[in-house]
Amino acid sequence: MSLLSVDVAVIGAGAAGMSASVALAGLGLQVVLLDEQGSPGGQIYRGITLAPLSRRDMLGPDYAHGHTLAQALAASTVRYEKGAAVWQVTREHKVTYLRDGRLQTVQARAVLLATGAMERPFPIPGWTLPGVMSAGAAQILLKSSGLAPAEPVVLAGCGPLLYLLGWQYLRAGVQIKALVDTTRPEDYWRARRHLFAALRAWPYLRKGLDLMRSLRSAGIAHYTGAEQLAVEGSEAASALTFSVGGKAQRVATRCVLLHQGVVPNIQFSQSLRARHHWDENQLCFSPVSDAWGQLDVPGIYVAGDGAGIGGAQAAALQGKLAALGIASRLGRLSDAERERQAAPLRTGLEANLRIRPFLDAVYQAKEENRIPADEVMVCRCEEVSAGELRKFVALGCAGPNQAKAFGRCGMGPCQGRMCGLTVTEVIAKARGVSAGEVGYYRIRPPIKPITLGELAGE
Ligand SMILES: Cc1cc2nc3c(=O)[nH]c(=O)nc-3n(C[C@H](O)[C@H](O)[C@H](O)COP(=O)(O)OP(=O)(O)OC[C@H]3O[C@@H](n4cnc5c(N)ncnc54)[C@H](O)[C@@H]3O)c2cc1C
Repeated sequence: MSLLSVDVAVIGAGAAGMSASVALAGLGLQVVLLDEQGSPGGQIYRGITLAPLSRRDMLGPDYAHGHTLAQALAASTVRYEKGAAVWQVTREHKVTYLRDGRLQTVQARAVLLATGAMERPFPIPGWTLPGVMSAGAAQILLKSSGLAPAEPVVLAGCGPLLYLLGWQYLRAGVQIKALVDTTRPEDYWRARRHLFAALRAWPYLRKGLDLMRSLRSAGIAHYTGAEQLAVEGSEAASALTFSVGGKAQRVATRCVLLHQGVVPNIQFSQSLRARHHWDENQLCFSPVSDAWGQLDVPGIYVAGDGAGIGGAQAAALQGKLAALGIASRLGRLSDAERERQAAPLRTGLEANLRIRPFLDAVYQAKEENRIPADEVMVCRCEEVSAGELRKFVALGCAGPNQAKAFGRCGMGPCQGRMCGLTVTEVIAKARGVSAGEVGYYRIRPPIKPITLGELAGE
């Protein structure tokens, strides 16, 4: 095992990680940027340096913007390690990762977690059937390999990423059979108090409206206020059923793409035992940090969607702010200089986040799509249903960690990433307490799968 000593280790080469790394290197610090993907870009800009121009064009201008960031990274002194799956970060700033089957360790003076977001689970009847995928996973195939379903798809759920994928699919020539939207008129009503702030972020709002307009003018069947979603099928998906205004609907399809928003990826901040809070608007846990993204673990910072969902531009600004915080901690910047450089970044961040409360209110995932009925599978790895979880609660199970002991829930290869939030919310509802009180899994390394042989290599 090799050991490298650097000033800063950044985990995640998305908008936040790339911006932070370039800024840190510009301040004369020695930076290593680790990412498990084969090229920089993160989620929004996935595969940007490898995508042919035609794919960049098809994915739209927001995607193409990532090229500028990737070029700045390539021109910097940052040591970028692709294909580096980080599986452990310690409170002493030691970062261990697997690359080409070999363990490598970095000892850093500060660590920035820029590991982004994950899609919120969408546990409805039939969601584990072949033919059902998340919209984000479908978009990953499109961005990284230009792959799209060969047969008509149904998009179901809510949120900007769902409509963006619909728009990108239209440009890629994919047939969309229906857009089944769970958003109801009362969601817009609930969000009305944030409308003024959203109007001040007019370019974002206009972008969303344009996406919806393109989908409508393409003549796609659009159902709104859909409830009681279920995927029908025995061996594989054959239809999506739902009701609108009490009327049952059924759309035959072999490909259902589900999405109801993204949530912070908190695997590392949880494994470091940093403090987290339950966000009532975004309905997820977020790490608690100071104005520079520093957690209550000294020298460990967080930026981007992993700190709370804010979108790509906010992520890039947060990355730069974290870089200033780290540089000041490491003695490269005076406090006064840090504040001077941070001021325009904070103004930009505030402008970027204006739209968030409106989006969070309109596209808040519905309780029936977050807290499923008894027969629905919650932990896909260990096959634990919502009903079994409720039985554990009746026997005294108080939270996600006990659920592991009661029935191996969350102990499979995904380490609870797919089921964590659902388990918290099912238990909270069954116990009649808040999700914040129930808490999350006690995450332990390895964060990414590693074989005993690879460990023994150490
Ligand atoms: C599936 C998906 C698709 C999305 N698509 C879009 C989109 O098209 N447009 C849009 O506006 N927003 C999109 N978003 C939202 C988007 O995540 C952000 O707004 C933006 O990418 C956030 O930037 P970030 O730098 O915080 O994180 P990200 O861009 O997500 O970057 C995080 C990086 O961390 C890496 N990483 C995570 N864990 C590890 C580990 N253990 N070891 C090594 N590397 C690790 C990941 O490989 C990734 O490259 C998407 C979100 C998801 C979940």
